[in-house]
Amino acid sequence: MSKVGETTLVLDLSALEHNYNYLRSQIRPETKFLGVVKAFAYGSDMIVIARKLEQLGADYLAVAYVSEGVLLREAGIQLPILVLHPLASNFDDLIEYYLEPSIYSRNILNQFLETAKLTKKTAYPVHIKFNTGLNRLGFSEADIDYIAEKTKNNGSIIIVSALSHLAASEDVNEREFSLKQISSFENLSNKLTEKLDYAPMRHMLNTSGIINYPEAQFEMVRSGIGLYGYGNQANVDAHLRPVATLKTVISQIHQIDINESVGYNRAFKSNKPLKSATLPIGHADGIGRQYGKGKGFVTINNKKAPILGNVCMDMIMVDVTDIDCKEGDEAIVFGPKKSAENFAATANTISYEILTAISQRVKRELKNN
Ligand SMILES: *Cc1c(COP(=O)(O)O)cnc(C)c1O
Repeated sequence: MSKVGETTLVLDLSALEHNYNYLRSQIRPETKFLGVVKAFAYGSDMIVIARKLEQLGADYLAVAYVSEGVLLREAGIQLPILVLHPLASNFDDLIEYYLEPSIYSRNILNQFLETAKLTKKTAYPVHIKFNTGLNRLGFSEADIDYIAEKTKNNGSIIIVSALSHLAASEDVNEREFSLKQISSFENLSNKLTEKLDYAPMRHMLNTSGIINYPEAQFEMVRSGIGLYGYGNQANVDAHLRPVATLKTVISQIHQIDINESVGYNRAFKSNKPLKSATLPIGHADGIGRQYGKGKGFVTINNKKAPILGNVCMDMIMVDVTDIDCKEGDEAIVFGPKKSAENFAATANTISYEILTAISQRVKRELKNN
């Protein structure tokens, strides 16, 4: 991989292709595949990833918010785009850009029907979200008659799919709960289908769902984190390749004497002479303060360099006492060798959080394969 001159998130699209093919190999060939590209494609580059997924033959994309879908359409993405968490104030844009709402409440259903009618839509594709235990968004069983009544002879919309979301698909200790969610979804979607005179698609599996509950793939699955190379369990990680590598460079090296301090609040104090390296990456780039004070570390010339003291807005200082290095050398925060999951674990969090935290200030670059 080529050297970088500044903090850079290097994206490997051949890893994305590999992960896509692996996830696809875990489901039936006829099952549709939805790629989740919300939050800038898990902090990478939403447009680049969406284009690649389109080219690879994904059937659907999903974003969280309407504004994200608008960016995809403006970049020329043609695939159907599911908006997981639309808000009524964005319905005009949603329709203008032909995005497909996940309808999760009576209120949202009514407001959407009104907008669809006002804009004279016919058979506009919508999705019905059921709550089966996550208790975040979604209709319950008591809403099914209401949904059917409102939509059945209403030419403005068509229900393309019914969906739900697992609360703990990665957790083997919650298997019983997940199975209960799956059977509840089957029941709810059947009831909805009985009330309509057509059968919407059904989907409920995220990445760990695909791995742990393939029997519940229904007509489509929705994968995010797996596409980016993380599987929430070591035996799955082994089949996947991280798409993003976060690299930076050493801007300056300091010799620190005994009883000196490093950084704001003098949070690190030396009890022996040491050598520190300053790196141009801080909490404004996504490395939160929770990684400071020796928890998080970067890799320089294949050696561990722990963060000294507090993370600054634009910089961190790391301990390179035992590392043969010089100004301009590369530092790797995470990537294929030292995963984002492991980096995240140093601050008690998960790959999803560190990946999506990488701010828009960080340069994105494609890896030349
Ligand atoms: C984010 C999200 C996904 C993707 O989950 P992964 O664990 O990243 O695969 C799927 N479905 C819904 C509703 C989501 O919000």
